[in-house]
Amino acid sequence: RNVTNVNQELSELDKKHFLHPTSPIKQQQEHGPAFIFTKGDGVYLEDVNGNRVIDGMSSLWNVNIGHGRKELGQAAMEQMNELAFSSCFATFSNEPAIRLAAKLAEITPGDLSTTFFTSGGSESNDTAYKLARHYWILKGMPQKKKIISCEKSYHGVAMGATSATGLKPFRDFTNSLAPDFYYTEHLSAQALRETIEAEGPETIAAFIAEPVQGAGGVHIVSEDYFKEVRELCNHYNILLITDEVITGFGRTGKAFGMEHYGVTPDMMCLAKGITSGYAQLGGVVLSESIHKDFMERSNGTLLHGYTYSGHPMACAVALRNIEIIENENLVENARNMGEEMLKGFQWIQGERDLVGEVRGLGLMGAVEILSQGKEPLAPAIVNEAASRGLICRSVVFDNQDTLVFAPPLTINKQEVEQMIEILHDAIHAIE
Ligand code: PLP
Repeated sequence: RNVTNVNQELSELDKKHFLHPTSPIKQQQEHGPAFIFTKGDGVYLEDVNGNRVIDGMSSLWNVNIGHGRKELGQAAMEQMNELAFSSCFATFSNEPAIRLAAKLAEITPGDLSTTFFTSGGSESNDTAYKLARHYWILKGMPQKKKIISCEKSYHGVAMGATSATGLKPFRDFTNSLAPDFYYTEHLSAQALRETIEAEGPETIAAFIAEPVQGAGGVHIVSEDYFKEVRELCNHYNILLITDEVITGFGRTGKAFGMEHYGVTPDMMCLAKGITSGYAQLGGVVLSESIHKDFMERSNGTLLHGYTYSGHPMACAVALRNIEIIENENLVENARNMGEEMLKGFQWIQGERDLVGEVRGLGLMGAVEILSQGKEPLAPAIVNEAASRGLICRSVVFDNQDTLVFAPPLTINKQEVEQMIEILHDAIHAIE
């Protein structure tokens, strides 16, 4: 199968008029799009030439309930026909936003209770940093404004979200970032303590981390890490923000990633799986006590809001999506199929010399490639896998040479086996 053999007209128009997000510009100009997708069905995507591939990344770690779910189209249509949009600014509201906020309070851990809606993960992160800083202003400690994040982290591309992103190439893309962002070694509570001490806890508003680092290469923390982080944040009076943009809504085999560690953050950032990508939506869920402080201490207007905060159609889609995740036991399926996927990686590790460490938590997985200091091989394996019918992603930041995976939570055993077989053959072909 020739993956570049796509519809010529679309390909030329794409090259000429479409600047792609997070894309290799020269390659795009030379070859045009590798796939122009026209259809989705379960774990499969189909392109203009009728090529069918397994979406081993749930597109961008987000299509949790799989492609082609007509129920979500139905939910969107019904809401749009009733009320496509109305504002949530000031004291206006709408039923899907209210019901979704209440549903999130029910399903998120601990005392997380109140949601501020956004249109995606980057906006959720920027919102969390601004709300954290505003919180300390309200508490009479305006000097607490630094945000600490982890090396190798990814928090999005809005100015604040990029500034918090630990993957340096994303920060180096532009030459001036938001001030007061600092980084600490990932996976190490001791390193966080040292960073807090060095920066001065009285100047720090919040620490943010992903429960499992995604774009940075699927790095899974030790069991005690977040407990220690929670203790440090309590001790130094620092807010804990967790970025569950990828890990939320069942991805890791629990409803939310932090449930693996028994820790509740003060704020939780959501997006992606909240609608499984069927509409643009994100949110920040605040703990009851933070919400109470906002209520008791604010006397002006909360001057932060997006036009689409609480978009009725997006919220209606999210509600239906969450219902599907619950009714079809997709969190449990992610846990079970995640184990199958990891077993598959371990089998490939035994078969192929090129494979180093393999990792997984639920349906987030990684396979390290042993390029031994030479050019990374993961990008070539990704291309080879795509031509054989599997989409996955390479991570080559920070001298890594890693393949990452995040198939839809609806995947079944046979589809996992198909994924593993294609991956094995792709690695074999590159060896
Ligand atoms: N946070 C994490 C952990 C992410 O993985 C992403 C996107 O990949 C974002 C934030 C940014 O979300 P968005 O692309 O919806 O702005």
